[in-house]
Amino acid sequence: MVTTSQKLIDQFGRQVDYIRLSITDRCDFRCQYCMAEDMTFLPRNDVLSLEECARIVKVFVQLGVTKVRITGGEPLVRKNALWLFEEVGQLSGLDELVITTNGSQLSNQAQQLKQAGIKRVNISVDSLNPERFKTITRTGELAKVLAGIDSAIAAGFEGIKLNTVLMRGMNDDEAVDLVQFAIDKEIDISFIEEMPLGDVNHARESTFVSNKDTLALLKSKYTLLPSALTTGGPAKYWRVADSKTKIGFISPHSHNFCESCNRVRITCQGELYLCLGQEDKIELMPLLRNHPNDDAPLIEAIINSMKIKPKGHDFDLQRAAPAVVRFMSHTGG
Ligand code: SAM
Ligand code: SF4
Repeated sequence: MVTTSQKLIDQFGRQVDYIRLSITDRCDFRCQYCMAEDMTFLPRNDVLSLEECARIVKVFVQLGVTKVRITGGEPLVRKNALWLFEEVGQLSGLDELVITTNGSQLSNQAQQLKQAGIKRVNISVDSLNPERFKTITRTGELAKVLAGIDSAIAAGFEGIKLNTVLMRGMNDDEAVDLVQFAIDKEIDISFIEEMPLGDVNHARESTFVSNKDTLALLKSKYTLLPSALTTGGPAKYWRVADSKTKIGFISPHSHNFCESCNRVRITCQGELYLCLGQEDKIELMPLLRNHPNDDAPLIEAIINSMKIKPKGHDFDLQRAAPAVVRFMSHTGG
């Protein structure tokens, strides 16, 4: 028997209080490390409806989840996504509704997102050079994203963070410029180590840049003070002295964070993945569609999923094939 005071605790005693929900596999960009150039996207009926997304979020919040990140694909290209944000933005028990976006639609949408209850925005930017930006994203226009960042700043979110994936020979000489950009805009920035996800036909072993090297470079240019901030994930934060900026280093190859892992991911097909780097999952879509007016089976399955949340992930750059062949745009970043 399920009571609404039930929390999600796995077999290692970790409480899951954070979900990342991908609301679409589609995107207006084709970033080299994330997608193939020629992607086939899912048929509409195989993707969760926005009502199904709202139902999932509500159930997780009932089960003690306090933070929800909406991601994709590019969440802001999903038609009527604002309806979902408004629907869940004011849920009692939910402390933080946040979003990860490529920023291409933000100049039109930032204000409405803020009003809907989105507290913080992560915006992915890998280069400040328009041609390079186009090469990395294959279709993206830097000017649009920069305008989107300014609109987000004007909208007054509680936090704005840039996300950057550095790749050797592509943009690894821009770490300092990107940090200076963040300092000038009074926002934060995180460097994400590239993960072996998806068959993107891109030579990761030769382009991989370790956060250890990036941190050493940045320490030679700025005074960095360790920050106590922790999100229960693979990020470590530093404060840049005499600025409002924090720098995060998201190092998924290190195993140090798995013991405090507090999150699960839900794909736009309703697959509940218990770990970014492992295959363990359960399918929520049939539970939603076979029981349109009864949440009990969904709640029970989510509680039971805690028994199969793995202890840690298993990434290895040296392998011939990726450890996990899911695209990041599928699982959600
Ligand atoms: N489209 C949105 C965006 O780009 O921010 C949200 C989805 S995207 C999959 C989320 C994050 O995952 C982005 O910051 C992106 O840079 C990152 N990402 C995608 N593929 C990655 C990979 N193979 N390794 C590391 N980060 C990756
Ligand atoms: Fe799209 Fe984001 Fe993937 Fe780039 S990283 S292709 S913007 S989903």
